[in-house]
Amino acid sequence: MDLLFHHDVVVSTLASGSRGNCTYIGTPQRGVLVDCGLSTKQVLRRMEEVGLGKARIEAVLITHEHADHVGAARILDDRLLKRQNERIPFFMTAGTKRGVNPRCMPKRVERITSGQALSVAGFDVEPYRVPHDTGDPVAFLVSHQRVNVCVVTDLGRSTRLVERQLSRCDIAVIEFNHDLEMLLDGPYPWSLKQRVRGGHGHLSNAQAEALVAAGASDRLRHLVLAHLSEDNNLPERALEAAERGLNQAGVSGVEVRVASQQLPLTPMRVGTPATFRPATKPRRRTASTRSRPATPPTQQLSLFSAG
Ligand SMILES: [Zn+2]
Ligand SMILES: [Zn+2]
Repeated sequence: MDLLFHHDVVVSTLASGSRGNCTYIGTPQRGVLVDCGLSTKQVLRRMEEVGLGKARIEAVLITHEHADHVGAARILDDRLLKRQNERIPFFMTAGTKRGVNPRCMPKRVERITSGQALSVAGFDVEPYRVPHDTGDPVAFLVSHQRVNVCVVTDLGRSTRLVERQLSRCDIAVIEFNHDLEMLLDGPYPWSLKQRVRGGHGHLSNAQAEALVAAGASDRLRHLVLAHLSEDNNLPERALEAAERGLNQAGVSGVEVRVASQQLPLTPMRVGTPATFRPATKPRRRTASTRSRPATPPTQQLSLFSAG
């Protein structure tokens, strides 16, 4: 892996899927986490593995109260107090706070409201509403040095707002939860199938494809396919859907990767204007069937998570 430049904005999805979600957004020195649904030990170990072991975590942004997004909050809170000598804030909506299991609740909770931007340790954060079956779920757009990153998972359908936010992004982490055919033919009970495919459930490959087709713009450089179902999806199908979406959007040169439940993705990075270096060779996609660049062992292109 190349050295991370001091001012680069780096993003690493440390885990994604129904057994735990967490994405780091920041610089190599400091950043925020979006969600903390895997164990504290794993969060810190995976940051170490991808070269972010020294990065200070300034805050945690919580999308909603499901355990795969907030389960580690209380323990992470205490662990970071020891690590950083300061209790960091956990940001969540009032509806999410009401829904969080009290045993997972961190000490310092800051309230956010969807549609109201705020500054968190120098990062501009916009929480925005998504349809999901929880109290008041949000997605996040995080900006630093004019680089925009969105994390959009756990939504039953896309909206114009979700598309508009995607169009502003350099890096996007988007849910490709299930293949509808696999879901309907799969092992879930009927009621769960209905929940997953419902308007407040999870985004199918076809829905995510349509979102990418409508929302991806020329500034998009990295696309992460997230929250794939272990039972009801295949990375190849998600990648094909993403490629179709990008083609429909007329956007090329995007690096597409599938986030994993078990292993962190090596950091994506976008140079900020002061340090931007033009690519010396054409960027290429790392889709499953294409030749992929040499990657360290921490990166993998397949995913084994449940819905
Ligand atoms: Zn989830
Ligand atoms: Zn959820």
